[in-house]
Amino acid sequence: MSKKSSRISGFHTLSVADRVSKTLEFAGMSDEQDAAMFLNTGNLPADLADRLIENAVGTMNIPVGIATNMLIDGRDYLVPMATEESSVVAAVCNAGRQSYESGGFQTSMSGTCMIAQIQLVDITDPGNCRLSILERIEEIRAICNDCDPVLVKHGGGFRDLEVRIIESAHGPMVITHLIVDTRDAMGANAVNTMAETLAPHIESWTGGRVYLRILSNLADRRLARARCVWKADAIGGPDVRDGIVRAYEFALMDPYRAATHNKGIMNGVSAVVMATGNDTRAVEAGAHAYAARKGWYSSLSHWEVTASGDLAGSIELPMAVGLIGGATKLHPMARASLRIMDIQSAEQLARVIAAVGLAQNFSALKALATEGVQKGHMSLHSQNIALMAGAEGDEIAAVAQRLVDLGTVRIDVAEQELLKLRSKS
Ligand code: NAD
Repeated sequence: MSKKSSRISGFHTLSVADRVSKTLEFAGMSDEQDAAMFLNTGNLPADLADRLIENAVGTMNIPVGIATNMLIDGRDYLVPMATEESSVVAAVCNAGRQSYESGGFQTSMSGTCMIAQIQLVDITDPGNCRLSILERIEEIRAICNDCDPVLVKHGGGFRDLEVRIIESAHGPMVITHLIVDTRDAMGANAVNTMAETLAPHIESWTGGRVYLRILSNLADRRLARARCVWKADAIGGPDVRDGIVRAYEFALMDPYRAATHNKGIMNGVSAVVMATGNDTRAVEAGAHAYAARKGWYSSLSHWEVTASGDLAGSIELPMAVGLIGGATKLHPMARASLRIMDIQSAEQLARVIAAVGLAQNFSALKALATEGVQKGHMSLHSQNIALMAGAEGDEIAAVAQRLVDLGTVRIDVAEQELLKLRSKS
């Protein structure tokens, strides 16, 4: 057998179809069905996929579900969520239903500013450098705003300057933060351009050398917040309420628990971020960095009992999402998701996402503090297992139900049950 090489010169210049042929040939997958599967790009046309990323050969379809019952700032929302995980959408619907009568979610936002960092090294007098940068704030404002007149026209642009000194193994570094209001854009490209344009000026003002010029995903000038009160009666009484608070206290103090607690929050957050074509990694990096801001990794949410004995939940996390740029404006499903929610600004979207994160957290904690997550999760998951076992059409529901009745959601059991079902018919 001849040795396969991944050195494929000019792969990027090929058409999507030719890239698919080359890839299948490499993998020894010559089946026409395989090629057809790659070329069926669903609701993202192949030429658009090819423009969004490099070397595109297809798309990866993920289900989009609608979270119902979400009352946010007095308005009803149907929230599109893109996720491959069962129970995630149901969790938000349930949390929304149980808070609907008590007024749903209230949200707010700290602003829409992003931070770009410029790393200056090879300096002996960091204190002096710091002030020589700070005193040029008006010059810096003009340089930054000149980079993006469109952003300025939309009410955004340079807002403030921070300069920090960080000690390193190679001596002090002076880190300049450009604080830029990016309005309805996530803003990565906008602030990166400003940082790159400003870098040579900082070198000439200080005599130092600039290395990195890039945004920070710890977008703590762009915090989305949501809060909600669940009536103790509506959620199963004081035991359930107290169980949720105890679960939160565990996550507050223990990073092993906090990682899973926050993963649940991000199940909701990332699904809406994805459905609107935003950058899931940017939001996830921001959330986890923010969760560790106290010096230890902790819960993104906060749970407490109100004076009237009800359960109050709140959440605060960086939410760098936009309506302009990246895939948000280009992906047909992202555009449809924004239309379903009638989103008019990046701030409105960020606030909805924070509410979804809190809703998700409520349902996860409630399940954990009562029956455990497996009961609810497994009844949904049983359908995936039935599918994996080869069930088709009506067989899927029948096998899934058998797995739930048996209390054993396992692939081997699903295969046995499928055989039994088929032998009967
Ligand atoms: P972009 O550059 O495509 O669009 C933003 C621009 O649109 C603004 O700079 C402005 O000129 C214009 N604009 C028009 N109307 C506007 C309005 N109402 N409000 C604000 N701006 C308006 O996109 P972006 O948001 O700068 O960058 C987002 C992309 O950058 C995402 O795809 C992200 O994945 C990617 N990215 C992320 C990182 C990171 O997170 N570390 C790094 C690099 C790139």
